[in-house]
Amino acid sequence: MREVGCSEEELFSFLSLMREKDLGYRNILSSMCTPPHPVAVRAHELFLETNLGDPGLFPGTAALEELLIQRLGALMHHPLAGGYATSGGTESNIQALRIAKKLRPTKSPNVVVPESSHFSFQKACDILGLEMRPVPLDAEFRMDADAIEDLVDKSTVALVGIVGTTEYGVNDPIARLSEIARDRDTFFHVDAAFGGMVVPFLDRPAPFDFRLPGVDSISIDPHKMGMSTIPAGCLLVRDPRCFSSLNVDTPYLTVKQECTLAGTRPGASVAAAVAVLEYLGMDGMRAVVAGCMENTRRMIEGMETLGYPRAVTPDVNVATFSCDHVPAGWRVSRTRAGHMRIICMPHVTRDVVEAFLKDMGDMDA
Ligand SMILES: *Cc1c(COP(=O)(O)O)cnc(C)c1O
Repeated sequence: MREVGCSEEELFSFLSLMREKDLGYRNILSSMCTPPHPVAVRAHELFLETNLGDPGLFPGTAALEELLIQRLGALMHHPLAGGYATSGGTESNIQALRIAKKLRPTKSPNVVVPESSHFSFQKACDILGLEMRPVPLDAEFRMDADAIEDLVDKSTVALVGIVGTTEYGVNDPIARLSEIARDRDTFFHVDAAFGGMVVPFLDRPAPFDFRLPGVDSISIDPHKMGMSTIPAGCLLVRDPRCFSSLNVDTPYLTVKQECTLAGTRPGASVAAAVAVLEYLGMDGMRAVVAGCMENTRRMIEGMETLGYPRAVTPDVNVATFSCDHVPAGWRVSRTRAGHMRIICMPHVTRDVVEAFLKDMGDMDA
């Protein structure tokens, strides 16, 4: 550290310099995050110093966390779901598997996850000492439900399905998986970190949530399509008593026990997540999602006209292509199989899509 601090002016010219090195969202087509909604920013500022790690000191903020759980629980068709605000899909997935492992003590526990699963499951398995059993995918990159039977055994603590896969934006056959989980008496976690804030706002969504009796827990991230500030994730469970297995005693806090992974936790991004839901309502979210889906459709149509076929028709706003090159100035990403991957987040407006397609076309000319 400096022996003597610098002036505020010097400090902020340094910080601004660093901030200018960051990319603006306009040309980022590779991210599941997006600039926060203006009401999220305003709410975030209002709750900047709040700490949900000691909720007795911030009862107003704690009530907002409960409201967030209630709202997202209702969105998942279970208003009495248990849950808490996590730092994102990674923490939600780790905690879900932690609960599953506690519920079924066994010598060499395993989890059955699709090959398409997010890398957070690798972290979860490493931390929790779980063997990861990948399930192959079908031609549309969805978990092949027929391949599950042989992989689930007495030491399987959880089955995982995905709504809105990170790479290809497709949904696993959640209804089938829910039945298998019930037949085999296995904990079933649905990773809807991305799709959880998209699928409920589509026209006729296939059920993937607590309406399916086998679903035990769901990850859903307001800091992606929920346009909250970062970090805002959410873990929901069908049975709120699940969390008691994670409780540790917390001397010197306003609560006696804590089931969260983090101790000190931001209230600001939780308030921001609630703000967006309250401000937009179902109607507003439907409009945002419809726009993103329309832009995804247009992106696919435009790319195919240029001769770059889609890898799959997605269920959510992720478009993937057989295309090796990228025009200068644009950020796209690549799937493990090498497909170009574009996420049509709210900042990827129709204008942005058309500008990208034009640059793609000019490259070929
Ligand atoms: C983004 C994502 C995650 C990880 O969420 P973080 O918020 O980055 O921790 C997990 N699963 C899926 C399906 C995701 O899309």
